Amino acid sequence: MKNAMPKNSTQTKAEKLREDFPILKTMVRGTPLVYLDSAATSQRPSQVLAAYCLFCQSHNANVHRGIHSLGEQATDRYEAARERVASFIGAPSKHTVIFTRGTTESINLVCYSYANKFLKRGDIIVLTPMEHHANLVPWQLVANITGAKLRYWPMKPDGTLDMSATNDILKPPVKMVALTHISNVLGTINPVTEITAAAHAIGAKVLIDGAQAVPHISVNVSEIGCDFYAFSGHKMCGPTGIGVLWGREELLEEMDPFMTGGEMIQEVFLDHSTWNEIPYKFEPGTPPIGEAVSLGAAVNYLSDVGMDWIEKHDHKLAAYALERLSSEEGIEIYGPLNGERGALISFNVEGIHPHDLATLLDRDGIAVRAGHHCAQPLMRQLGVPATARASFYLYNLHEEIDQLMEGIHRAKEVLAYAR
Ligand code: PLP
Repeated sequence: MKNAMPKNSTQTKAEKLREDFPILKTMVRGTPLVYLDSAATSQRPSQVLAAYCLFCQSHNANVHRGIHSLGEQATDRYEAARERVASFIGAPSKHTVIFTRGTTESINLVCYSYANKFLKRGDIIVLTPMEHHANLVPWQLVANITGAKLRYWPMKPDGTLDMSATNDILKPPVKMVALTHISNVLGTINPVTEITAAAHAIGAKVLIDGAQAVPHISVNVSEIGCDFYAFSGHKMCGPTGIGVLWGREELLEEMDPFMTGGEMIQEVFLDHSTWNEIPYKFEPGTPPIGEAVSLGAAVNYLSDVGMDWIEKHDHKLAAYALERLSSEEGIEIYGPLNGERGALISFNVEGIHPHDLATLLDRDGIAVRAGHHCAQPLMRQLGVPATARASFYLYNLHEEIDQLMEGIHRAKEVLAYAR
């Protein structure tokens, strides 16, 4: 094949890693699955599946309750997972890692427990136009409840934030800045450390949506210096139903609970209650225990593979996909074209609705996402109702990008014939 990529060591390692992912052997409509939708949810290696199974078979009990041995084993494993996650993201202490159901819940927790309590009429919340609805709609509610106003950071035509606007955007009375680390549509990697420093200089707090970052690049919350950092287990080789909110200890201490009930209390009286210490204050009821344990296994897996390797591999895949897609006539690509981007590419093929493209690609076993990607304001700014999106991870190969291109050619032919 003319454009086929020569094999390299990164490729060989990815080929080996694929053996860990049983689902990648799936046949779709008689052809082997080409999974290019990891930005929506990633696949899970046998090591993570085995950790869940082992927990269910040998250690299953509720946590922080039982005096019995099984209860202690479950609690030890749940807390060990918290410890692993804390060190994976450079958190100063494991008590600052709260297990949630995912990024969405983590951000809602901050909105409800921090922003609704500390923001007031006249304050400003800064967002960007590239936010996932999970980091946009909750802030609209905060604005409604507190009387604070939303302000959007301007975006340049190449899909990066206009950093020359920093002084205009970040000035009193800005109290909160909430932005994505890596855009799930544009792939833009935002300069979160620089923005955090500028926000702190005017006394604003910073929340970072790391749903698309933690799976793909080394993230160190202490080095970034932010106040809150949110991410999901299912995009980083872990299970659904588990996510993380990391928060600065002094802020978590000041915040009221998000949800109330069992386990998050210290003492309950008939007319009032007092709260447990962090992080338990924010983990009411029975948590997703097996899921947390599996997230710990996913973190182990990613660490063993090596985040540096993952970042390099993903970068090569994205650069190759960018090269192939941009050398093709009639394809519009959204987001930075210089290769400084996350492991995903949104695009449209002239004359083909992205839903039709995704349906036709699926006939070839190729899974891509099509739609507004939970970013309707961004779609409006781009002037399109939807895009197709191919996203890559540690188990993807350059050949799969060649297959995507062949699939796009076939889709063009089919639709040209149909006209
Ligand atoms: N933020 C970003 C950037 C995302 O890509 C996603 C999911 O696609 C979310 C937030 C929401 O994540 P979850 O559905 O796991 O809560």
